Amino acid sequence: PNIIEIDHLSKAYASGTKALDDVSLDIREGEIIALLGPNGAGKTTLISIICGLVVPTGGTVRVGGFDIRTDYRKARKLIGLVPQEIAIEPFEKVANTVAFTRGLYGEKPDPAYIEQVLRSLSLWEKRDAKTIELSGGMKRRVLIAKALAHRPKVLFLDEPTAGVDVALRREMWQVVRQLRADGVTIILTTHYLEEAEEMADRIGVINRGKLLLCRDKTDLMGEFGRKQ
Ligand code: ADP
Ligand code: ADP
Repeated sequence: PNIIEIDHLSKAYASGTKALDDVSLDIREGEIIALLGPNGAGKTTLISIICGLVVPTGGTVRVGGFDIRTDYRKARKLIGLVPQEIAIEPFEKVANTVAFTRGLYGEKPDPAYIEQVLRSLSLWEKRDAKTIELSGGMKRRVLIAKALAHRPKVLFLDEPTAGVDVALRREMWQVVRQLRADGVTIILTTHYLEEAEEMADRIGVINRGKLLLCRDKTDLMGEFGRKQ
């Protein structure tokens, strides 16, 4: 089944920039899809609309069958967003910050679930550390833990490895593989083909607001004559 249905989506900003132009895409439950495109292609705009943060000028988005505009609260509960910028409470303990985020969604406390999330992100040993004491890679994992706090079905990762070094990039790829094993549907943006190839089952290529193509990774790599 499709967890997200994007239908003829367009966005023109007040400045006149056409950031998205008639984008349609269905995302299947459990898949990892990479939205690949250069800076300014429209990737963040697309994610922001699906998460209900930006209002489209045309078209519709459904998450779990709920229209993001008319059923925002229900749709939003199914989504976790990991933003590009690291923004976490520096002096709060890791476990508390994740549990607190869960509360923001109006969900009852669930220590067993929070433990599961922290363990799957290799943060359990650091649960009582203040986030300011953590390495850059761990801080990024705390952001992911916060995005998972309310047990969403879909996780968005906006440029998860922008500006990070090789070791940290590999660590992030590993984290994504682990999340897939946990059954989370993942949508990530990147401007590196290598990263899309490494992490995703399906790759959508976006440029100048248009979804140029969206294929299973194996098909796409075959077309470009790459070895499997
Ligand atoms: P990407 O994430 O692929 O880099 P964006 O979605 O951020 O692309 O941007 C797509 C286009 O929309 C760019 O031309 C960008 O300058 C423009 N844009 C993005 N946000 C705004 C905004 N709030 N107001 C006006 N133009 C914007
Ligand atoms: P900058 O070019 O200023 O280093 P970028 O955002 O372009 O910043 O790069 C982010 C990180 O991705 C950098 O650490 C860069 O080394 C790395 N990177 C560069 N090219 C690729 C590639 N083809 N695939 C994956 N990662 C890459």
